[in-house]
Amino acid sequence: MAIRVRYPPSPTGLQHIGGLRTALFNYLFARSRGGSFILRIEDTDRERFDPRALNDIYETFEWIGFKWDEGPDVGGDFGPYVQSERSELYREHARVLLDSGLAYEAFDSAESLRAEREAAEDGGIRKGYDRKFRDMSETEKERYREQGIAPVIRFKVPLEGATEFEDLLLGRVKRKNRDVIPDPVLLKSDGMPTYHLANVVDDHLMEISHILRGQEWVPTASLHVLLYRAFGWDPPLFCHLPMVMGNDGQKLSKRHGATSVREFRKQGYLPEALVNYLARLGWSYDDKREFFTLQELCELFDPAKLTKSPAVFDYRKLDWFNGAYIRERSSSEVRELIRPFLVEAGLISDPSTAEEDRILDDAVPLVHERLKRLSDVSHLLRFVFAPVDSWDAGMLVPKKMSAADVPALLKRARELLEGFEQRPDEEIENRFREAAEADGVKLGSLLMPLRVAVTGSTASPPLFASLKLLGAEETFQRIDRCLEFVEQLSAVDIRREDTETKE
Ligand code: GLU
Repeated sequence: MAIRVRYPPSPTGLQHIGGLRTALFNYLFARSRGGSFILRIEDTDRERFDPRALNDIYETFEWIGFKWDEGPDVGGDFGPYVQSERSELYREHARVLLDSGLAYEAFDSAESLRAEREAAEDGGIRKGYDRKFRDMSETEKERYREQGIAPVIRFKVPLEGATEFEDLLLGRVKRKNRDVIPDPVLLKSDGMPTYHLANVVDDHLMEISHILRGQEWVPTASLHVLLYRAFGWDPPLFCHLPMVMGNDGQKLSKRHGATSVREFRKQGYLPEALVNYLARLGWSYDDKREFFTLQELCELFDPAKLTKSPAVFDYRKLDWFNGAYIRERSSSEVRELIRPFLVEAGLISDPSTAEEDRILDDAVPLVHERLKRLSDVSHLLRFVFAPVDSWDAGMLVPKKMSAADVPALLKRARELLEGFEQRPDEEIENRFREAAEADGVKLGSLLMPLRVAVTGSTASPPLFASLKLLGAEETFQRIDRCLEFVEQLSAVDIRREDTETKE
């Protein structure tokens, strides 16, 4: 059997990270089996259609690096691949079911249809639909027609029995027909199809062999199986993927953090890190291996290794992957990757000046190893591109000391920095260590005020390398200005709050 899979987003909102995982598994399945990956735009809900969402689909996958074999922009033998361009086909198919008595016209009021739609949007099933028009005689229906009410076409879901299908992951799924969505609308009164009709007709006409999608679609699958049978078609094979949850077991949502792919991109995640992380969300190769390139995944992906249980989205683990992938990039790549984040933070100009470029080149090695997200750079390198002329007094004061102790510590540090530009970092650090011992203070107590004075932050790249990047003149000026600031303060008893520190 030819493997043909599809990713059919509805352009109603930004691409969700869960949607990207669905697309990824479809893509990998197609690639691992020499099959075709098809992009289809499901835009029949004209009320919720958003042209920005449509752009977002293309931009997301361009960035991720997926290429589809068939789709609106690349064409194919089964087009058009945009549902709004296929309405005639859906009307014909609705008519087939109507003629064979498997669907019927209903003259429901606008309010009643709205209530039904709202229930469906919330993922619910409007249990109480009364099937009022299901068995109504033609003469009775004529009365509605005369009033000029345009009918919808509804599917006659059998009232008895059950529907079963085989799911690649879940095994046999059986649902009583009376628990299936009651007589859903297939064709709206304006002649546009609903998701159910368009999705089933297209999957059949496009010869889709496998449907891989999230488990939230399991209840819908029973209805779709009934529809395939009504048309006299064999349904594709289903594989309902494990859900993506937050760490509290609830469906992943804004409460947990970023959810749209665009947000992840804005925060500075690399596409290869997202792909690698998402591939492991509900799938594993073996117990050990964690790192895979997209190419490797295309070769190794096997749906038999999908897990049934929900997958928990762990933002920290994603950060860990991202840091690892950033470290794999070359310095010049990292420089170009962080550039837009520095521009966005207003730290460098666009296009950048030769001077900014020179500093940027020197700054990359300081942050390359420690970036988890590219956006961290605006915080880590702020001190390099922007002056530090105000300080958080609480940050300057080492633990168990007061503001009155800071001037002496800063002066001592300034002294120890004499000629630092010419000395290796370890040598300067040794100097500081020995001095701290001699003075009976902790090394950290000597370094922290210096770090804060010069970088304005308790979390900076390695300190001495940072100072060298700034140069002696700027370093000493910052220390001196900070000394003035802190001397005015020393009368006030300020103690260090517990801020996170980073060497
Ligand atoms: N258009 C549906 C969506 O937005 C497709 C669901 C399916 O895969 O059948 O998710």
